[in-house]
Amino acid sequence: MHQTDSALVLFSGGQDSTTCLAWALRRYARVETIGFDYGQRHAVELTVRPAVLAGVRALAPEWDARLGEDHMVDLSVIGKLSDTALTSDVAIAMQENGLPNTFVPGRNLLFMTVAATLAYRRGLNVLVGGMCETDFSGYPDCRDDTMKALQVTLNLGMATRVKLETPLMWIDKKQTWQLAEESGGPALVELVRTGTHTCYLGERGALHDWGYGCGTCPACALRARGYREYVATKG
Ligand code: ZN
Repeated sequence: MHQTDSALVLFSGGQDSTTCLAWALRRYARVETIGFDYGQRHAVELTVRPAVLAGVRALAPEWDARLGEDHMVDLSVIGKLSDTALTSDVAIAMQENGLPNTFVPGRNLLFMTVAATLAYRRGLNVLVGGMCETDFSGYPDCRDDTMKALQVTLNLGMATRVKLETPLMWIDKKQTWQLAEESGGPALVELVRTGTHTCYLGERGALHDWGYGCGTCPACALRARGYREYVATKG
C-alpha cells in the first residue's frame, strides 16, 4: 500500500477502467474517479457507470473507505470538433491512414490533461488510465511513449510530480480478465462481466458468457475472445 500516494482513475464504466479502478484500490489509500461525457453516440457506458461504482464499493469495506469522490466532466467539445464513428452515427470502418474511424483524435491526450488539472486541485499525485498498446486498434494516443511524453509535458507545464500509471499497457484482454481476478477475486470478475459496458454499438440486450454487447463490433470481439481465453486457462 502507498500511504502517501493518492490516485485519480479515469473511469468510464467499461471493463478496462473498472479493472484499473480495482488495481488502484489495492495500492492507494485514497482513490477518486473521473468520467467524461464527450457526446458518445451511445450513453450506455455513462448509465451503467454509477452501478459499477456502487458494485465496486460493495466488494470490500476497505475499498468503500478508500474510494472518494466521483467527478463527471462535460467534454462535449470533442463531439463538436471530431466527426468519428464513436461520436456520430456512421459505420465503423478502416480509414486510409490505417486507423479505424472510431479513433477520436487527441481524446486520450485531452482526458489525461483534464484529469491532471483536476488532480492538481484535489491533491492527487497519480493518474491511472486503461490505455493499452497490446491488442488495441493501434490508437496512437494509447501508446506507452505517448503517455510517457505526456507525463513529462504535464509535469513541466504544471510544475508537479504527477505519475501516469497504465496497468493494462502491456497485457492482452485475457490478462485483463486475469488482472480483475487478481485484484478483486471472482466477485470482481462477475461485476466486470455483468455490470460493465464495452460495446461500440451500445447494444445491451442479451447477456453472453463474456457480458453484454452486440458480439461483432471490434470491442465486443476483443472482449469475448479474451474472456474465452481466460476461462480456458482455468481448465
Ligand atoms: Zn459490440
